[in-house]
Amino acid sequence: NRSSVPFSSQLNAVAICRTPYKQKFGIPRQPGLVNAIGYIEFEPDFNHLDAVRGIEQYSHLWLLFCFHENLAQGWKTTVRPPRLGGNEKLGVFATRSTFRPNGIGQSVVKLHSVVQRKGKVCLMISGMDLLDGTPIIDIKPYVPFSDAITDAKGGIAQDAPVLIPVTYTPVAATQISQYTIQQQYQGLAELINGVLSQDPRPAYKKAKDDPKLYQVALYDLDIFWHVTKQGIEVLELKPTK
Ligand code: SAM
Repeated sequence: NRSSVPFSSQLNAVAICRTPYKQKFGIPRQPGLVNAIGYIEFEPDFNHLDAVRGIEQYSHLWLLFCFHENLAQGWKTTVRPPRLGGNEKLGVFATRSTFRPNGIGQSVVKLHSVVQRKGKVCLMISGMDLLDGTPIIDIKPYVPFSDAITDAKGGIAQDAPVLIPVTYTPVAATQISQYTIQQQYQGLAELINGVLSQDPRPAYKKAKDDPKLYQVALYDLDIFWHVTKQGIEVLELKPTK
């Protein structure tokens, strides 16, 4: 008549994910939506090429990770998914909410290569929806014959989000092209466009006129933008203080 099975586990990070996303606001809500490059840096106990031997045979990986920034806030039985405009409640297990028991997330990402960076074995990946510094608790190959279910029902998230147009002031356009020629900002233009075309604002803001000045942090840059009748306009870029 036991109500729960005794279970205890201390999970340690096997790796840390390095991404351009320096704050939660603006991170795509699922993987594969924005072509951002990231790196999985193995922790000292797992920093062995042998531990990833054979991984390059796969084009995609499952990452299991911890929503470490939200752990302190715990979880609730029901949540209000942004997809439903924040008005309707669904059970936590019927959503991909970040506020969940055990705080575990999972994402499929594209694997580019195994590389060495600063003496660490790393996996170069893209398409992740993870905050910079996210602890990775496991990594597994994505196997299409079993993982890809082409006739699956997608519930409230059947289709990818609708994209909105992104335009640039002349100042922002010049800044972006100047940054993009530097190696560390490769792909910056595509990244900004990808992140903002998802319209990161909370649902209630999208419903009416919105004069607010917004900012997202990508790499070590703050990107300032606002909403116009046509979509999103990028105003300027500033180095993060
Ligand atoms: N694909 C994963 C899943 O389904 O478990 C994550 C989906 S979750 C809705 C994606 C959001 O998690 C991102 O938009 C970002 O705001 C948030 N996020 C990403 N990394 C996080 C972290 N380390 N701690 C807390 N929140 C995080």
